[in-house]
Formats: sequence, C-alpha cells, structure tokens
Amino acid sequence: MAKRRANQLTLTLFGSAFPSYTDKARKFRHKSIAREVIQIMEKTMKALVKKYRQPGLWLEDVPVPEIGVNAVLIKIHKTAICGTDVHIWNWDAWSQKTIPVPMVVGHEFVGTVTATGSNVHDLEIGDIVSGEGHIVCGRCRNCLAGRRHLCKDTRGVGVNRPGAFAEYLCIPITNVWHADPRIPMDLLSIFDPFGNATHTTLSFPVLGEDVLITGAGPIGLMATAIAKHAGARYIVTTDMNPYRLELAKKMGATVALNVKEKSLAQVQKELGMKEGFDVGLEMSGSGEAFKDMLTNMCHGAKIALLGIPSGDLAIDWNTVIFNMLTIKGIYGREMYETWYMMQAMLQTGLDISSVITHKFHYTEFEKAFGVMRSGNSGKVIMDWVA
Ligand code: NAD
Ligand code: ZN
Repeated sequence: MAKRRANQLTLTLFGSAFPSYTDKARKFRHKSIAREVIQIMEKTMKALVKKYRQPGLWLEDVPVPEIGVNAVLIKIHKTAICGTDVHIWNWDAWSQKTIPVPMVVGHEFVGTVTATGSNVHDLEIGDIVSGEGHIVCGRCRNCLAGRRHLCKDTRGVGVNRPGAFAEYLCIPITNVWHADPRIPMDLLSIFDPFGNATHTTLSFPVLGEDVLITGAGPIGLMATAIAKHAGARYIVTTDMNPYRLELAKKMGATVALNVKEKSLAQVQKELGMKEGFDVGLEMSGSGEAFKDMLTNMCHGAKIALLGIPSGDLAIDWNTVIFNMLTIKGIYGREMYETWYMMQAMLQTGLDISSVITHKFHYTEFEKAFGVMRSGNSGKVIMDWVA
C-alpha cells in the first residue's frame, strides 16, 4: 500500500513538478527524488504528539503525512516552542476545547523541501523554507479580496491539523515561505513569532516616536529590536522577570522597566517625556499592564494589542474616548507582507539573535519545555536533524 502511494507520487513528480530543468538534470534529479520519496513514504517518522487528554507530550512514531497535488512535504530541521505549545502541554481550558487528540503539535519551524505535489512548480528539492501556520479558507470575503490574514475560517498548523514537531510536515504551497538561504536556520525557525512582533510593531509608524512595550516575553523582546530598527526615539519595555528585562536591554530598550519597582509615570519624567507614549504594544496579556498603558499614552496615541488576556477585561473607556486613542487587535501575521518585512529587516542589519537563549535535540523535549515553562528563557529551539 505504502509502495503504491509512493509510486503514484513519483509519477506526479515525474509529470510536471520541475518543467524548467534540462533533460539531463531532470532525469538525474527525478531519480533521486523518486528514491527519496519512496524511502519516506515507506517510513514512519518521529513526532511530538498530544496523545492523551492530560498534561504532557509524547514522542511517537507516526506515519509520514501524505501530500496532495498543491502541497509540499518539508523535512524539518529546527523548530521553536511557542506559548501556544506550552498551553497544549499544560492542557489548559483553551487546549481542552481546541485540540483534537491525538495531534502532532508545533508550528514554528524551518526545513527543506523534500517532495512537492504535481501543481507545485516554483520550489526545488532542498530549498530552505519556513511557513505560515495559519491556513486560510480562500473563499471568504477577506480571502477573496487578498486580505488573507483577516480570514474568518483560519486553521492552525499544530492546533487544528498536524504540526511541525516532527521529522516531516506537509502544508499547502500557499503557506510555504521560500527563505533567503543566507539567513541562519535558527532565525528562520522563529519567523512565526518574529512575524507576530513585526506585524504588531509596524502596525503604526514608530519613526521618532516614543514606544511602550508591555511584556518582555520572546515577542516583546523582538518588538523592542524592531522598534529600534524602525527608528523609534525611546523604547520602554516592561516586565517583572529580571532575566527577561536583562534581555530587553540587549535588544535595544532605552529603559527595561521592572513594573514592581518603578512606575511608568516616573520613567516618563526621567526621560523628559511630557505628553505620554505615542505608540503602545501590549505583549503581556496582562489586564494590569494594559490598564497601566492606557493611562500613560499621549492624546491620539495608537495601541496594538497582541497579548491574549485570560478572560474578560474591564478598562476605563473614558480614557480611550477623551484621549482619542486608536486600539487595534493583532492576530498572526499579514500574508505575506509581514514575511517580506522580516526578511528585509534582517537583510538590513536587524539583530534579533539574542532572543534565542536555549537549544536542544528533539529527544530532549522535556528539558526544552521545562526551560520554556520556567519563564527564564527567550526562544527555545529544538533540532530535528543533528
Ligand atoms: P510570554 O507569556 O512568554 O510573555 C509575556 C511576558 O509578559 C512575560 O515575560 C511576563 O512576565 C510578562 N508580564 C506579565 N504581566 C505583566 C505586567 N503586568 N507588566 C509587564 N509584563 C508582564 O508570551 P510571548 O510568547 O512573548 O507572547 C506575548 C503575548 O502575545 C502572550 O499573551 C501570547 O499569548 C500572545 N500571542 C498572541 C498572538 C496573536 O496572534 N495575537 C500570537 C502569539 C502570542
Ligand atoms: Zn477565508
């Protein structure tokens, strides 16, 4: 059965996947692809699976995903752990109502193209790729209008469909980001959260502006570096975790503020600010942080909300109205303008490498998740090929 599937796939690969090669190169290439495809299709792969409806993840042998005509099979090289993966590990209320079990989890990755469906013409075997973890419907009003990040029916890799904490991942060609191979693989593996940071930070112009970032988690840390790169004047990044505040300084914060020790009003005074912050990026999910932000913004300020509060949140709407604040919710990344901007910023000197603080082999996933859950980390990377 596995062999028959492999042969079918080989035929489609021979048929039309690489029309631009010379005959000789094509023959050679297709032979090696065919061999590799057959080998893969006969094998199972290692994957981190949410196997039981209880805390934890399990390293399992699962079948290599089948690829359709519009899909790409990616050999995973590196993955990074997202807060969402920690929620799934913890099996919190959100995971319990969202994650079907069993499920291969994970959505932050970089890898190489291993096989392509017959409708895929613009990728070569071995190309380095990352990918957009939000798979959109393609049919709703926003999708049809090209505003795919606003799709009403987004499905998540590693949430609603098999994910990237595995030796192979299959996603539609529309979700593949063909990376600049000069960018280090470690950085490419965090393009998903780097994209959250980019989408949020560049939502409003920051050139010459004073920017307040609440929460120095991995995303707040990257936002700090992006705001600096994009020309902000002062960047105040807040948290109460000393490890992360230290990283915030490294990433370019003018002030890394421990909110347990000093107020934002005091910091404004010390910096000589008179009217409040121009742009606010909420990246903690804390209601307290958001409320504190609201009272420290200038009139007409812009706020982008990325952090996800755990429940309902009451704010003083009079501040929003009388101070004429603009508040924008952010989800995911813009497809694919955010990806373009990330790459362009790295090509022009943005350095976010300090946000990667730990690396593990995937067999050490329990240690990797332990570090991530401790809060004393930036991004934690798992290697799938070494
Ligand atoms: P994280 O949980 O690692 O970081 C949040 C940080 O906020 C922590 O370091 C914590 O100490 C800090 N914090 C808590 N209370 C605070 C307060 N009162 N003031 C200042 N800091 C405070 O999360 P992350 O991975 O960096 O992600 C940031 C937020 O964005 C999370 O809420 C996450 O769920 C959310 N998120 C949203 C999207 C989206 O598409 N909207 C995508 C990814 C993550
Ligand atoms: Zn849609």
